Amino acid sequence: MKTVDFEAARRLMVERDLAGRGIRSLPLLEAFRSVPREIFVPENYRDRAYADCPLPIGEGQTISQPYMAALMIEALDLKASDRVLEVGSGSGYVVALLARLVSRVYGIERHPSLASESAVRLERLGVSNAEIRAGDGTRGWPEAAPFQAILVSAATGRPPRALLEELDEGGRLAVPVGTPELQELQLLRRTAGRIRTEHLGGCRFVPLIGENGWEPESNI
Ligand code: SAM
Repeated sequence: MKTVDFEAARRLMVERDLAGRGIRSLPLLEAFRSVPREIFVPENYRDRAYADCPLPIGEGQTISQPYMAALMIEALDLKASDRVLEVGSGSGYVVALLARLVSRVYGIERHPSLASESAVRLERLGVSNAEIRAGDGTRGWPEAAPFQAILVSAATGRPPRALLEELDEGGRLAVPVGTPELQELQLLRRTAGRIRTEHLGGCRFVPLIGENGWEPESNI
């Protein structure tokens, strides 16, 4: 395997692929500079950890593309006091980024093996304000709700009602909505009991599978 200077590769990724493509939030850029993406990917992909693309993490799933994760997190307009839920936390990378930015993070992942591996990573990194559990995130996380922000890292035909109900007043939900092949990133905001939707452009995610998502046997 090639020897990679991960620190240098991380700095370059932040300048070129995030700041260079319009991500402006300084705390967010700093979070990307401080979270080692290489530990969130399998060993045989580590030399590509700072390519701006999704990479396999096992169970047919992928770690989020850094630019897309940054776009979604920036759209959520987070405050340090916020409590945030990520549905589809996969490798735990986005949970680790969020944990640098807000007071408390909850990650829920459908594959138990990914959930337990990601929880171990967070512990190794000394992240103490986040927890990850295995389960169906389309049903939300009622015991921890309400959330000021929810990020859905898998694609759905429509935003799951359970998640909208777990949004605090003023809360924001970032979610890829569309068909299994192609989606658009939507930002939904709950104000005075109503939901306003902003459209943030095209994207492509693995499917959200669960009670309020797609069915596993539909081969998507
Ligand atoms: N942010 C994660 C990362 O960087 O590793 C993204 C992982 S991947 C793009 C999306 C994840 O959503 C997959 O790991 C998949 O298993 C998970 N997923 C799909 N449906 C789910 C559901 N109903 N509840 C929880 N996780 C789900």
